[in-house]
Amino acid sequence: MSRAEFLAKFDQFGIAPTPQRLEVASILLDKPQHLSADQVFEKLREKGSKVSKATVYNSLNLFGKRGLVKECLVDSERRLYDSRVEPHHHYYDVESGQLTDITADDIEILGLPALPEGTVCDGVELIVRVRSDNG
Ligand SMILES: [Zn+2]
Repeated sequence: MSRAEFLAKFDQFGIAPTPQRLEVASILLDKPQHLSADQVFEKLREKGSKVSKATVYNSLNLFGKRGLVKECLVDSERRLYDSRVEPHHHYYDVESGQLTDITADDIEILGLPALPEGTVCDGVELIVRVRSDNG
């Protein structure tokens, strides 16, 4: 993505484009991927960036809130940020901690129990937990 495209995206989601935020976004939005805040921080360091860990956490949190990226809470210890924001499902490898996308069309939801009173369905996202098959 070019700088102009990043600026347009930030504008679209109402995010002030500080240089640090642009650096964080350039790592995550580089390709379809799922990264933790620590992984984004490591990649920034590898590139010689001086962005602090706190800024990485704060930026990703803001991006998630505004909808620039999607937050996936796979378990209480692992929060991953997804560069794909359209609805889709995931395989979660419980051994490696890796998330892999499943296209929304590949899973058919046949029915849901009655929703809690006063609510509407805002989306259904499945996490299919997998591990290696060693017999
Ligand atoms: Zn995903």
